Amino acid sequence: MLRWEQALARLLHLLRLDEIKRKILVFALTATLIPSLTMGWLSYGQNSRVTSEKVSEELRVASSQASRELDIWIKQRIYELRVFSSSYEVSENLQKSRGGRVNPDAMRRLNTYLKSVSEKFRDYEELLVINPDGQVVSSSGGHASAINLPGNWLLLARAGDAIVGSAYWDETSAQTVVRIAVPIKSADDQLLGLLATTLNFVAVEEIMGKLTPRETVQMYLIDIDGRVITSSNGALPDQKQARLPETVIQRLVGESTAEPALPAIEYTNLAQQEVLGNIALSSQQEWAILAEITEADAYEQIIRIRNLTLLITVAVLLVIGTSAYLLGVTIVRPLHRLTRGASEVANGNLGVEVPLIGGGEIGYLTEVFNYMVGKLRDDQQELAAVNDTLTKTNRELQEISITDGLTGLYNRRYMMETLSNEVSRASRLKHNFAVLMIDIDHFKRYNDTYGHLAGDDLLVKIASLFRQSIRDMDLAARYGGEEFLIILPEHGAEAAMGVAERIRTGVGTATSDLNNSQEAVSVSIGVATFPENGTTPVTLIESADAALYQGKESGRNRVVLSDAKPGARAGSGEPSRTKRTRKS
Ligand code: GH3
Ligand code: MG
Ligand code: MG
Repeated sequence: MLRWEQALARLLHLLRLDEIKRKILVFALTATLIPSLTMGWLSYGQNSRVTSEKVSEELRVASSQASRELDIWIKQRIYELRVFSSSYEVSENLQKSRGGRVNPDAMRRLNTYLKSVSEKFRDYEELLVINPDGQVVSSSGGHASAINLPGNWLLLARAGDAIVGSAYWDETSAQTVVRIAVPIKSADDQLLGLLATTLNFVAVEEIMGKLTPRETVQMYLIDIDGRVITSSNGALPDQKQARLPETVIQRLVGESTAEPALPAIEYTNLAQQEVLGNIALSSQQEWAILAEITEADAYEQIIRIRNLTLLITVAVLLVIGTSAYLLGVTIVRPLHRLTRGASEVANGNLGVEVPLIGGGEIGYLTEVFNYMVGKLRDDQQELAAVNDTLTKTNRELQEISITDGLTGLYNRRYMMETLSNEVSRASRLKHNFAVLMIDIDHFKRYNDTYGHLAGDDLLVKIASLFRQSIRDMDLAARYGGEEFLIILPEHGAEAAMGVAERIRTGVGTATSDLNNSQEAVSVSIGVATFPENGTTPVTLIESADAALYQGKESGRNRVVLSDAKPGARAGSGEPSRTKRTRKS
């Protein structure tokens, strides 16, 4: 494997991303999440900026317009006062009461005039006349005692200026009011007194209400100390003396004067809400219009858009995630099936067939796998067939190697092996057994008379007779030429003699009709038993052979039991046949 591939595989392993399914899922989610979050974040930033600018602009326009209208309103009130102050009713009647003389008639007329004017103007709470000593001479309301004007009022009055007091809370009418006054002068420009009015702010409330750009924007008329005089909806803070902190005022004023187009500033208002606000000072610098909107209201729309964006992102993630998962499954499931199939094959089950679902690389791999398993299966079947044949051939070869070709009896080599085993077994178990050595009488003559092929037939026939005369556990072998040897396990002399006798008579009977010859074929049999006549294969065979020799000597066609004693002569290698020099 390449080094970078190893490093990458290690990294993925650390991230628990070994499985294909997880890799696909994580990749799909990352590929969805990164662009959507980036785009969302960028557009959120952009929207925030645009919204904030828009809101700032709205607040700035509202506050400055309201402030302009406030100026106009106050100028109009002063102008009206000046008109009334110059009326004959005011100056003439006042002049009549000058210098300590009180003219009740003139006073009554003045008061009537004040009342009639005051009633006509809804902004007026009260209209009053103050003399240069600071005493209220006449009043439409009749209850005012304090003059509620700035300390330098006399100076201003003498100069002919209008005087504007501070807004204050009037307990009687339960509202904020302000007093303004203009000088009353005689024809020779002597100061006769002041014509003053107490103004309510109903008109200012209406101006502000009319100019609020939207419902969520609130406008306040405040004084320079940050106290609320009135608001666009007429509501006032519960604490009448509550004021905005100095720092907030400074920030508002500082920023709005330094550069009018600056964005609205953020602060905590008197109702403890986080707000955006913009201030516009009135021309006489005592008052200002503050336009405010809570941040929640200002950013409501973009918060909604942000939430919608997040919702859409989550929905897209769900869809993409599910698709990626399903994609992973379509790759992984066939791979799992292939893996299971491979392990089945490894366990020797070649009957596996992986179902082919879909195409592509994995489909191709599945086809190749199935083809490979099929090939293995065929090869294995072929191999099994070859193996069978081989086994059969081996068995046949084995048979051939231990049988005699002509008679089908066991051959001499196999007989010697079996005899040797039987000697061992009988010795170990202290059992006995017998061997019969059988020789066909005058077989040479038979050959000479009937031919060699007829001799062969006779050999086959006699062999078949032997097979029928013995048990399964016995063994009949062709010892050589026309001589046979039969091993009879678990037989003593008597039983063995019985078997031998049966064979001898059986041969006579079976061959009586051969070649229409009058003369039946006979056999001579020598019987030797273990351990009486021999304790080795060789001595046993020699004993049986010697008994057979005796049978030949004493006239043939008979059974002779060996009288040999074991140890009379030690058996060596092959049995000796030297004694058998028989005459025909
Ligand atoms: P005896 O009674 O003394 O046994 O006389 P015999 O003729 O049977 O004995 P001998 O040993 O003189 O002769 C054996 C003959 O068996 C000689 C041989 O031709 C014949 N022979 C040996 N093997 C075969 C064989 O496979 N087929 C045939 N047809 N004859 C065989
Ligand atoms: Mg012979
Ligand atoms: Mg013979």
